[in-house]
Amino acid sequence: MIIIMKPRACEASVQKVTNLIESKGLVVHLSKGDQVTIIGVVGDKAKLAGSNIEISDEVDKVVSVTESYKVANRKFHPEPTEIALQNTVLGPHTLTVMSGPCAIESREQLLETAFAVKKAGATVLRGGAYKPRTSPYSFQGLETEGLKYMKEAREATGLSVICEVTSAHAIEEAVRYVDMLQIGARNMQNFELLKEAGKTRLPILLKRGLSATIDEWLNAAEYIMSEGNENVALCERGIRTYETSTRNTLDLSAVPVLREKTHLPIIVDPSHATGVRAYVEPLAKAAVAAGADGLMIETHPCPEKALSDGPQSLTFDQFETLMGDLKPYAQLSGRTL
Ligand code: PEP
Ligand code: MN
Repeated sequence: MIIIMKPRACEASVQKVTNLIESKGLVVHLSKGDQVTIIGVVGDKAKLAGSNIEISDEVDKVVSVTESYKVANRKFHPEPTEIALQNTVLGPHTLTVMSGPCAIESREQLLETAFAVKKAGATVLRGGAYKPRTSPYSFQGLETEGLKYMKEAREATGLSVICEVTSAHAIEEAVRYVDMLQIGARNMQNFELLKEAGKTRLPILLKRGLSATIDEWLNAAEYIMSEGNENVALCERGIRTYETSTRNTLDLSAVPVLREKTHLPIIVDPSHATGVRAYVEPLAKAAVAAGADGLMIETHPCPEKALSDGPQSLTFDQFETLMGDLKPYAQLSGRTL
């Protein structure tokens, strides 16, 4: 529920409404504009039955938010969220490119990739230390050793670094080494993991589940945010459809839909969406044109030898060319790259 106060409502009347809501055990999120104060109510609005807030002095209207996600909802927070990383801000003014290998395989591989993607203009280094592989016999990641290489790459290049976390233990480890945590597609509805991520103070990149609707995805973001961590970005990485010519189907319409429904930054990952190197470039351009705030693109020093996702990984030369080609798209979208 959202309570819109009358223009220039006084502090005392805002406080009166806030006190009433809190006395019922609900949580208040205040948004103060120049003219209008908006009070967001988080929790079961049934507890306010009989309170008749709408007839209070200086309340303009009470809007019922039908969506169950509230903190992530644009109706309550119209301004786009900006997430500050060590060297860039994820949000409406920049095109943030996150690049790196699917999996961290060695110190040399990661450092070489870090310097290459930085040279090409990426600001965030990605790399998996905990790999949620389809088969238990596939490479599972270097875990803490990989996180240490991430930290070293961060210090050597000044890039921000992001790693996927797959368990509460992985979160505990990763917060010591990285700038941003990724929750992968397979864990989008792992609610205990989402709550643990919400208890950290690191920004979270929440990837869309393999078959998740946008509503389910935003409710997953709400799980993180309702624990107090509001620095969440969303990553469209393709969904399961009947089409088999690509690994997944990139749902580009998710970009404008999310833009309407939420204030959270939107990243598009054309690498996992297609699984095919040749399709990464056109879809990266399309994502920027559709309004994405950033891209996640897999790169590898030698994709043929990659321990995971080689077929979709770009070489450094291909990545550099792509970054150059993206410049006019970023410019047209009013973003710096
Ligand atoms: C990844 O980013 O390496 C990954 C496993 O992605 P997703 O969760 O989107 O499959
Ligand atoms: Mn991958």
